[in-house]
Amino acid sequence: LQWDITVAFGFATGAARHPDRPAIIDDAGTLTYAEVDERTTRLAHGLHDLGVRSGTKVAVLCRNHRGFVETVAACVKLGAHTVLLNTGLSAAQIAVVLREQDVSVVVADTEFRDLLANAPRKVRRVMAWVEGATKSKTVEQLIAASPATPLPRRPPRGRMIVLTSGTTGAPKGAKRPEPASLAPAAALLSRIPLKAGDRFSVPAPLFHTWGLAAFQIGLVLGATFVLRRRFDPALVLADARRHGSDALFAVPVMLQRVLELTGRPHLPELRVIASSGSALPPPVARRCLEEFGPVLYNLYGSTEVSWVTIARPDELARHPDTAGLPPHGTRLEILDDAGDPVPVGVTGRIFVANEMLFDGYTNGAGKEVRNGLMSTGDVGHRDHDGLLFVAGRDDEMIVSGGENVYPREVEDLLAGLAGVREVAVVGVPDEKFGQRLAAYVVREEPGALDEDAVLDHVRGNLARFSVPRDVVFLDALPRNETGKVLKRELG
Ligand code: ATP
Repeated sequence: LQWDITVAFGFATGAARHPDRPAIIDDAGTLTYAEVDERTTRLAHGLHDLGVRSGTKVAVLCRNHRGFVETVAACVKLGAHTVLLNTGLSAAQIAVVLREQDVSVVVADTEFRDLLANAPRKVRRVMAWVEGATKSKTVEQLIAASPATPLPRRPPRGRMIVLTSGTTGAPKGAKRPEPASLAPAAALLSRIPLKAGDRFSVPAPLFHTWGLAAFQIGLVLGATFVLRRRFDPALVLADARRHGSDALFAVPVMLQRVLELTGRPHLPELRVIASSGSALPPPVARRCLEEFGPVLYNLYGSTEVSWVTIARPDELARHPDTAGLPPHGTRLEILDDAGDPVPVGVTGRIFVANEMLFDGYTNGAGKEVRNGLMSTGDVGHRDHDGLLFVAGRDDEMIVSGGENVYPREVEDLLAGLAGVREVAVVGVPDEKFGQRLAAYVVREEPGALDEDAVLDHVRGNLARFSVPRDVVFLDALPRNETGKVLKRELG
């Protein structure tokens, strides 16, 4: 383990200890730890020449490749703050974020140039992954033109501003302290068998808190990161085979796509498939365990509170819908509306305390805190073994005819029905019941099943008030860049 780690010095430490170990394998080739360390020092000088100083904000609008990683590392070397932009945002949303965050420089891939159309004029542009010609400066030019002279060893700490997914409204900037201790890594490693020098395939987007977490943990372990600009399920597996990946960090919809492939390669090295970012549908968990063996880990957490619980393969084999147990150093409580702990098996609001809680949103707001515990915004229950089951967001609860229904219960049930590929359940206003349930279903094949088959399945398994009144068949569910279903676009 590299014990004196932060992102700033992860590559430097790696360069000193294992200079020739590959650090990044991406669409442009392989870079060793020594190369990445030198390139990020040069890039830091180049950004400094553009006016980036300790405390300056630099936005990143990139896919997964060296340019993303090196920009973040160079900024942290300078003590600059990085604002990680979701590539699925619109030009208007990006303009708002750049203005609100007072960003000075944006490092972007040329394919996202149009998304900078409304950016304030004073924001300097640097292009990272370049396709075609560009008039702007590029990351590679800054690296080539700048010296490799060392930077001051400990600049004031930069921080990262990670945008929430915007599932429930406009994306919010969450201020994440750069980990000053090994707490986040120690927490994760207490439940997941990752090792020093492991090879990490990271298809999860690096701009999202989950991809970023994989990156931070990987630096602690001196890992090799296998990155691709575009998610392609067959390529993920081909890469894992070719580079002998030990761990795969994905969001559930990526795993679903991987499982749809036929003729998968044998992956003897793969010890960990880690899923997070949104709920893991139980059929995906089950199939993953069947196909890849006892290697699946489900992490529950959010941009604001980092990881809350981790389910291990044996727990998922018994309960494919569990989010697992809190890792070392985490306190978890389920509280009722009055703030008192609920008994085992009773659903309540999920609160957590760990060393990774965020510092509030950049607009000054925060999450509710009770007795030192922060609200996750989700509801769920624990069983007698302490395993957590997340029912969903507290604001997703549907009140139909006075009864509380959590859409995830219906979604998980329908996801297991033969012929259903994916499903989302939302509440829609109803004159008689206040709200009624609507199920949006994507079928394996058109005609695979009809409305009655869907409704009969729910009637046979759940309470009367959990039965949807509407069933709508769609070709695909609307999803954001991290594969989360955009429920506000349904209903
Ligand atoms: P916004 O706050 O802008 O709507 P968001 O909350 O979707 O964005 P994230 O921080 O990416 O942004 O999402 C965290 C949420 O995703 C959690 O609060 C939870 O609802 C859900 N989630 C994440 N992982 C899991 C999991 N393993 N099981 C169940 N739900 C999960």
